Amino acid sequence: MAEMRPETGGYCLHGKHYLVTRTHAVHATCPKGFVNCNLSSANPGLDIRQKGFPMSKTTAVSFTDIAPLKEGVAVILAEDGPTLSPAGKALDKASEGALTNAIKMRKFKGKKKSILDMIMPGNLGLSRVLIVGVGALKDFSEDDWVRLGGAIRGKLTGRDGPNATIVLERPKRPYAVSAEQAADVALGAMLRSYKFDKYKTKQAKKDGERDNNDTDLAKLTIQCANASTARRRFATQKAVGEGINVARDLVNEPANILGPKEFADRAKALTKLGVKVQVLDEQAMRKQGMDALLAVGQGSDRPSFMAVMEWKGAKDKSGKPVAIVGKGVTFDTGGISIKPAAGMGDMKGDMAGAACVVGLIHALAARKAKVNAVGLIGLVENMPSGTATRPGDVVGSMSGQTIEILNTDAEGRLVLADVLCYAQEKYKPKWVVNLATLTGAILVALGNEHAGLFSNDDKLSDKLTKAGIETGEKVWRLPLGPKYDELIKSDIADMKNIGGRWGGSITAAQFLQRFIKEGTPWAHLDIAGTGMGSPKTEINQSWGSGFGVRLLNRLVAENDEG
Ligand SMILES: [Zn+2]
Repeated sequence: MAEMRPETGGYCLHGKHYLVTRTHAVHATCPKGFVNCNLSSANPGLDIRQKGFPMSKTTAVSFTDIAPLKEGVAVILAEDGPTLSPAGKALDKASEGALTNAIKMRKFKGKKKSILDMIMPGNLGLSRVLIVGVGALKDFSEDDWVRLGGAIRGKLTGRDGPNATIVLERPKRPYAVSAEQAADVALGAMLRSYKFDKYKTKQAKKDGERDNNDTDLAKLTIQCANASTARRRFATQKAVGEGINVARDLVNEPANILGPKEFADRAKALTKLGVKVQVLDEQAMRKQGMDALLAVGQGSDRPSFMAVMEWKGAKDKSGKPVAIVGKGVTFDTGGISIKPAAGMGDMKGDMAGAACVVGLIHALAARKAKVNAVGLIGLVENMPSGTATRPGDVVGSMSGQTIEILNTDAEGRLVLADVLCYAQEKYKPKWVVNLATLTGAILVALGNEHAGLFSNDDKLSDKLTKAGIETGEKVWRLPLGPKYDELIKSDIADMKNIGGRWGGSITAAQFLQRFIKEGTPWAHLDIAGTGMGSPKTEINQSWGSGFGVRLLNRLVAENDEG
């Protein structure tokens, strides 16, 4: 049984064997000294665990005032026509019409999302010029500016020079872009430059194999009006970008490296930013009666944890916090109700909700948000074994309600039930939002475009919808209701953990609602289609998207700070 293990110890390189430091002898064949480890000759280059958890690198972004372009790669904007920006016109003149010629030859019209890429001839000192079509900038939303930054960053490889400069000015009067827009472009570039390549030991040799967001680009400078204001504004955005990349790192990490314990350690790292982090082990959770959560992890050799992260940024430190709860199933085999083999590897991402919570608290703390916020994540591994929960088992929960577990693959709701209950009991929050890769059914309903939103509170729901449109992390509300609730009635317990064949995302949400107290505004975000494996975009090329960090950061910024 997992909870029988001593506190001291750690997992072997495989994430499978537990090292008991005090009571057992060390296994002779394991060079790392791990008990029962079959690894006879470990390749030191493979010792990824020892590298710790470096943040994936991203290119540094800086701001300066508009100035003549002298070296490296230059990026200028063009609106429909094309109408070149003032910097573009100046370059065209200095190059004796090289831009005009290229525009004619390629029939470039300046349409949104079109890019004319030209090697710069002559003696201007520039290696390359990108003319980026933006259509009509007056129609640009915040999300468009962010994506513009991402699209531009995707074209900069560093091969044509380690430095690139974006001249951010409007082709038509007034030429100046706002500081916010400049910061949004920088955020887009930062998000695009993220890549998760720490396990790649060989560099791709051929140019064609290189990723377009390669990090050889050392420096990206944004020229704009009000550069100093843009720089200040970006300091806030950068904190959010870091939070997103923290979430992406967690989602992308394989489950042999990132189990419940290691995930809790990553949450603990937030103490550096002034966050108070408490980690509850199985014994502590059992004391709280969190039997539903514990039932999910009991088939795994790796013990379960709950991490609680408190950020107190409001003037009144004793004011009610907002609570964000995340599902952190570090690997979901389905348990005894085991999943089919195809695609099971994706289940390393069944902790995207918890990853978002860690990323969000990182963002709030790093930008010193004036809010009291608490993030709570349930960390378990769902494995089949002789100690695993069986279909048909009945377990209790912290709320006192009993649950008949008819499908051990509907485990996320069991984890959330107890963490949601703990969040309300302990913190009496202003509102609680939970995120979870909860159901495959949400993919059937909404695809990768929207996260599913369920809520008992119209105001909270509207605020989330608005924040989603602004940030491009969109949510779509689906219904709850007593008729759906009837579908989770159990013959022998207070409820069962699955509904029927239809409306799977809704019955999952109904289940969670049974653990929400009357009067607590609550929203559940089903991010199974958006948190992982979503399509590559201008601002994300990695498997884990970090979905939810910008959304909830905006929700808090617009409604709960001050
Ligand atoms: Zn599952």
